[in-house]
Amino acid sequence: MYPVQGKNLINGQWTETKSTFQSLNPANSKEIIGTLPISGEAEVNQAVAAAKKAFHTWRDMSWVKRAEYIDNFAQLLKRDMEQLSELVTKECGKPINEGKADVVEALHMAQYMAGLGRMPTGFVISSEIAAKDAFILRKPKGVVACISPWNFPIAIPLWLVLPSVVAGNTVVFKPSEETPICGHRLAELFVEAGFPAGVINVIHGNGKEAGDPLVKHKDVNTVLFTGSRAVGKYIQQIAANEMYKFVATEMGGKNATIILADADIDIAVNAALLGGFKTSGQRCVSSSRMIVDKKIEPEFTKRFVEKVKQIHIGDGLKPETFMGPLINQKGVEKWKLHNQKAREEGAEILVEGKELTEGEHANGNFVSPFVYRMPHKAGSFVLREEAFSPHVAIIPVDGLEHAVEVYNDTDYGLALAVITEDYRNWRWVRDHAEFGLGYVNLPSIGAEVHLPFGGVKGSGNGHPGAEGIIDAVTHRVAWTVNHAHEIVLAQGLSTKV
Ligand code: NAD
Repeated sequence: MYPVQGKNLINGQWTETKSTFQSLNPANSKEIIGTLPISGEAEVNQAVAAAKKAFHTWRDMSWVKRAEYIDNFAQLLKRDMEQLSELVTKECGKPINEGKADVVEALHMAQYMAGLGRMPTGFVISSEIAAKDAFILRKPKGVVACISPWNFPIAIPLWLVLPSVVAGNTVVFKPSEETPICGHRLAELFVEAGFPAGVINVIHGNGKEAGDPLVKHKDVNTVLFTGSRAVGKYIQQIAANEMYKFVATEMGGKNATIILADADIDIAVNAALLGGFKTSGQRCVSSSRMIVDKKIEPEFTKRFVEKVKQIHIGDGLKPETFMGPLINQKGVEKWKLHNQKAREEGAEILVEGKELTEGEHANGNFVSPFVYRMPHKAGSFVLREEAFSPHVAIIPVDGLEHAVEVYNDTDYGLALAVITEDYRNWRWVRDHAEFGLGYVNLPSIGAEVHLPFGGVKGSGNGHPGAEGIIDAVTHRVAWTVNHAHEIVLAQGLSTKV
């Protein structure tokens, strides 16, 4: 079954390029998951041209008809659930239960978008003039570029691609170069589901050679990007120079679990473990800050640290694994840098994380959790920047208002959890903290596709994915129809010529 020979999908044809790259298993770098074409400007141009051509017939179909293709696709996701889950685990390292959740989330998005085809897509609204009917309608925008990260290699591409196509746009999708075989399998399923040639095109390659010309292409008027803040900001700057180009960016987070003095400690410890270490801390919503009221911080820390030391780290296909490897050596280096910065900034180290290089860990990018206690410091690197790895700070605070002040002191604003038994406390947090996804007595992870997904500040530019993305991929137009035999204008405007 592996290695897979991946290809580009352009105008319904499988195509290759002269140079290729390999996708490796992060738990065992000796295992090649697949080989893929390195695409550049030439392939981008072909793919965008195919999408532009297909747009004219695709947008003329009804929403219902387009949704039927997505329903076909949903059936294939169900059929291939087990193989896709295993592929996610092999290519991005997540434990198999998380690999499966990725595919289930993708299926939910397919079901949601298939259903949307039969839901209202606009409004009839009263005009000032009785003889006129006014409508608010959604129209597709054209060619949408979908650029996705590696950490949800099946779900996130579909958050971007399926809303785009159900609304009548056509797509060029560039999967992450870290998980391209997941992208290739999706391309195979798009073909099998019967999407007409050119409606969804898939090109492989890295950000600079394939992503950059795609974003800059003059016929791409909408870019849906999910990934790091640095790349998202760069893409926003490109769009700022082109009046016709619209960009929705979903980026990183410096998320937190706020544990108040009245918290149920069992819930607090579990929420902190799940939010901090699921996916080895490599979720955009992972909590790398536990902001804990000083009154309960010693007890929380004692119990949390005991549990952290028991975390099982290994190959995600083994049932006992809680934490798989980091995605690549760059991720390991980033984790080391954050640990080093924590030491330099005066952290009290509670769990000394290690790079694991022996036995079952010998050929993978394995590290163990790094946990420290540190008072909040204005301007701290380590308490403000995304670590995207198992690197967790415990920050003692003086009560509710201080907790929220500390939470807000980053350039990000994606996800938070608050652990409290008092409804007044969580309401205060909800109303004063800067976030896009908030959870009470839960970890900071656990999104569902029919809720908006996105953050504020450096985490997103206000066009949340999932439930909200239809707004990003459609124009709302006003359409007014006169039923009288004369022209009457609004605001009493004279029609005398
Ligand atoms: P990344 O930014 O390195 O890459 C994301 C995608 O952008 C990849 O497909 C990459 O090839 C492409 N890319 C890179 N440079 C480009 C360029 N110049 N032009 C166009 N495309 C380019 O991110 P990653 O390492 O894959 O993912 C991790 C990051 O994603 C973390 O910061 C995480 O928080 C974030 N993330 C955010 C969300 C969210 O919804 N907010 C979800 C998942 C991950």
